[in-house]
Amino acid sequence: MNILFASAEAHPLIKTGGLADVAGSLPRAIRNLRHDIRVVIPAYQSVLKQPEKFTLVAHLVLEGVTQPVRILAGRLPGSTVTLYLVDSPEHFDRPGNPYTIESGAVWPDNAERFTSFCRAIEALSLDAAGLDWQPDIVHCNDWQTGLVPALLARHLPRPANLFTIHNLAYQGLHDWKAFKKLNLPADFWSTEAMEFHNQFSFIKGGLVFADWITTVSPTYAQEIQTSELGYGLEGLISHRADTLTGIVNGVDYSVWNPGRDLQIPVTFNARSLSHKIENKRALQEHFGLPVDERIPLFATISRLVEQKGIDLILDIVPQLVKHNAQLIVLGSGDAEIEADIRSAVKAYPENVAAFIGYDESLSHHIEAGTDMFLMPSRFEPCGLNQIYSLRYGTVPIVRHTGGLADTVTDTTPKTLETKTATGFSFDAATSDALLAAVERALVYYRQPDIWQQLVCTGMKQDFSWKRSAQLYIKLYETIIARRAGEPIAESA
Ligand code: ADP
Repeated sequence: MNILFASAEAHPLIKTGGLADVAGSLPRAIRNLRHDIRVVIPAYQSVLKQPEKFTLVAHLVLEGVTQPVRILAGRLPGSTVTLYLVDSPEHFDRPGNPYTIESGAVWPDNAERFTSFCRAIEALSLDAAGLDWQPDIVHCNDWQTGLVPALLARHLPRPANLFTIHNLAYQGLHDWKAFKKLNLPADFWSTEAMEFHNQFSFIKGGLVFADWITTVSPTYAQEIQTSELGYGLEGLISHRADTLTGIVNGVDYSVWNPGRDLQIPVTFNARSLSHKIENKRALQEHFGLPVDERIPLFATISRLVEQKGIDLILDIVPQLVKHNAQLIVLGSGDAEIEADIRSAVKAYPENVAAFIGYDESLSHHIEAGTDMFLMPSRFEPCGLNQIYSLRYGTVPIVRHTGGLADTVTDTTPKTLETKTATGFSFDAATSDALLAAVERALVYYRQPDIWQQLVCTGMKQDFSWKRSAQLYIKLYETIIARRAGEPIAESA
């Protein structure tokens, strides 16, 4: 199959969150299964500054886009996957992150920026870029590529397409004034298309027009059909339930493997857990916390946004201190949450430490050196850190929602007996419920035999991309067959 995979970010070239991890590793796994998958991302300034070599392969004049754009081609680093960059300097040659100015405010012209990106994807999809390559299916991801299924719906023949929701909270909403500047077909502004409560919704393009929709865990696929997590789109999504699938993200175990990780002080595996303790001591030292392997060490690594429930963690800091525990936070985002973290560090310097910022290497060390990982998310489409934690022998404590519910098995007498327990989960999004789970975990933490069983069961879990990649391939085949009007052998 020829597959075009479109995303606004891809690790290791550009990353703000889990989408980049997926776009950096799922295509590799699909390539390993011998399909011709090509990735397309915008040519951000920071991507072009990297040492990777890209060659100019096409000049495009795109409908509705004032300046011509260039297509550059190279490889997704460390793989044989072809990577296309959409080089539109007026839109992407600027500092800051893909969506925001350095100060944190969103780029005011995001609608125009990602419209030009989608127009370029449209051209690549239709083999209209002079590259002599035609995808059988276009796999779009999140709102930044949401226009693509809508644009493709206007062409016949056209490739099949799939739209993956990584997080329904981000929808790419823009007002009428912004819409007018996009030079899009006028009928895109209608409730049957992409108008949503008098706003232009990029994500609706994917939800309405894609041949199939996926999201990144089966539980989240259910949750977005409810008013609680559907953001008013639950009716539309439920209407598409027959063409909606949840596939849990994999993780890249060549990057996240404690046995070979060059970013941690000492490598280890399930048979050499004493080396994990060395990482713990080094981590305590790094953060200036009292160095003592007996102190239970909790951590979280996160974008600092309301979704992640960091406030619930900060609420229970006094109780963690009472339990003589330590807490390490790595994250950046919302200024208020950052300030609250700094206050907790100031109030309890012996127990709480934080690095406010983005540090990939430190995130590996934290996963390696911590005893328990906290993820009290209010919602979590899939979540990756709990899966990294499992592999690093760090027991996850998670809220029972979305992908967290699908990847962590709560510890109960029964799951201990069946040796399936891998962590602790709780239901209510409250600090009391989080504290109860933490206290449950601490009881087991003090029983080394049981704790070791938990750690080892977690380390054995396999969330490699291969399985998920096979599910995607089966689904691609189903969608393509369905479009060709062929009988579908089996649903994916
Ligand atoms: P989301 O996509 O909602 O941010 P995920 O758990 O799916 O959440 O993915 C987050 C990814 O970003 C993980 O790989 C995590 O380690 C990483 N990450 C988040 N914040 C930081 C940070 N401050 N420093 C390093 N890595 C981070």
